Amino acid sequence: MKTGLTHLYIPGPTNVPEAVRRAMNVPMQDMRAPDFGDLTLDLFTGMKKVLRTEKGRVMFFPGSGTGAWEAAITNTLNPGDKVLMGRYGHFSTLWVEMAQRLGLDVEVIDIPWGAGAPVRDFSRRLGRDTTDEIKAVFVTHNETATGVTSNIAAVRQALDENFHNALLFVDGVSSVGSLEFRMDEWEVDLVVTGSQKGLMLPAGLGILGVSEKAMEASKTATMRRAYFNFADMVAMNADGYFPYTPPTQLFHGLRESLALMESEGLDQVIARHHRLAEGVRRGVAAWGLNLVAEHHTLYSDTVSAIRVPKDVDAREVIRIAYEDYSTSFGSGLGPLNGKVFRIGHIGDLNEGMCLTALSIAEIALVRAGVPLQMGKGVGAAQEWFLSAANAATSYGVAAE
Ligand SMILES: *Cc1c(COP(=O)(O)O)cnc(C)c1O
Repeated sequence: MKTGLTHLYIPGPTNVPEAVRRAMNVPMQDMRAPDFGDLTLDLFTGMKKVLRTEKGRVMFFPGSGTGAWEAAITNTLNPGDKVLMGRYGHFSTLWVEMAQRLGLDVEVIDIPWGAGAPVRDFSRRLGRDTTDEIKAVFVTHNETATGVTSNIAAVRQALDENFHNALLFVDGVSSVGSLEFRMDEWEVDLVVTGSQKGLMLPAGLGILGVSEKAMEASKTATMRRAYFNFADMVAMNADGYFPYTPPTQLFHGLRESLALMESEGLDQVIARHHRLAEGVRRGVAAWGLNLVAEHHTLYSDTVSAIRVPKDVDAREVIRIAYEDYSTSFGSGLGPLNGKVFRIGHIGDLNEGMCLTALSIAEIALVRAGVPLQMGKGVGAAQEWFLSAANAATSYGVAAE
């Protein structure tokens, strides 16, 4: 029998705050009642703030992030359209596969797992495409499999410098609400996320931010779509309704999670993710282990993918943590299976939780055969959290 709390350090589903869980515990309600908009209309405004968009439109589809990927593609593109995608991790690989299945002509730029979006290759390719044959560029903002965050502003710049008109698609599933994301400033046309990552909710909502340009494209795009139809959604959303049964519990939860983020402040949420992630990275460095991310400018503040030594099976680390310490770490996906374990540090998290993650990882690593000095990673993270606290005090930032 297992006792005590279980610890979830996977990059989604993430921990759901108690206040959000309680907010979802409400009776079923009439989705066609005259006051249903009182629940939903604020969610569109709140979500727009998280995406930092005023011009864009938010859509909530019952589904997950993958469903929102599909909605983005089928509403704005035509069968056979040429699109440009970078492939550098499990999620970018899956998005390529979806685009191929949906009949797009996908030009893939393959780069090593651990690198970020191939901005220079994109730029070169876009520069040669003087007839605007490429209709869209797809970027995975935060590659959850490798713990790499790519520079979306740089991709926008590559498009602009080449006077290219392609739509900019961004997978923000493990970045929106946790990492800096600026839809309007970066002129992102379609951003996709899901409820179960930075938004700290159960899975069940596929969320999109859609630019005016993408809305225009959706009016003439000819790809077949049925369930995920922007026009049906927009027509009903005007008064806060949906074309089919929406998950009202999740809306209640989202209302609370948006309120939590608003009261902490989006900038502070992002800063906290950085502070906590840096603590985890200090711990990993003190173990003498490497991240999959190739360069410090690529480090993700929502997930760290940690390489174990060649003679050790990362699956053992994960198994020991789970079975003996009620602790979940993320596995190595695809070619990283067995070579990597991941610590998710996204959503409702604090210093104590990160220190627990590191301390359990230390025991599990040692038991799986990595020769570590117990406490070393934890100590390095503690030192970092201490210096962060001291810096905050000396700058006169009120301790919360
Ligand atoms: C989790 C994740 C997805 C998949 O989202 P689902 O909600 O599981 O469909 C896609 N992309 C990234 C980057 C993710 O982290």
